[in-house]
Amino acid sequence: MHKSCPRCGQRTELEPGFWFGTGYVSYVLSVGISAANLAWFWLLIGITWRNSSIFWYLGVNALILLLLQPWLMRLSRVIYLSLFVHYDPQTVGKPG
Ligand SMILES: [Zn+2]
Repeated sequence: MHKSCPRCGQRTELEPGFWFGTGYVSYVLSVGISAANLAWFWLLIGITWRNSSIFWYLGVNALILLLLQPWLMRLSRVIYLSLFVHYDPQTVGKPG
């Protein structure tokens, strides 16, 4: 993660502890991905209380979330930062 944008110089960590909030963004994304995983797992494999399919879903979902973690962390930071810093073409090339 850059300390500041290499193009415009915008600092990425706006204040100490700024990235704490990305945990909530990451959580929302994870819940959404889990719901999507549940949908395809339910449709393709099926989930019933009669066998251990729910545990297979939980395992597969956990594995997918773990594999997506590096991408999820970065996407969460981008989304969180974009809530506070908006794109402004005028600032390109100016530090600050
Ligand atoms: Zn920039």
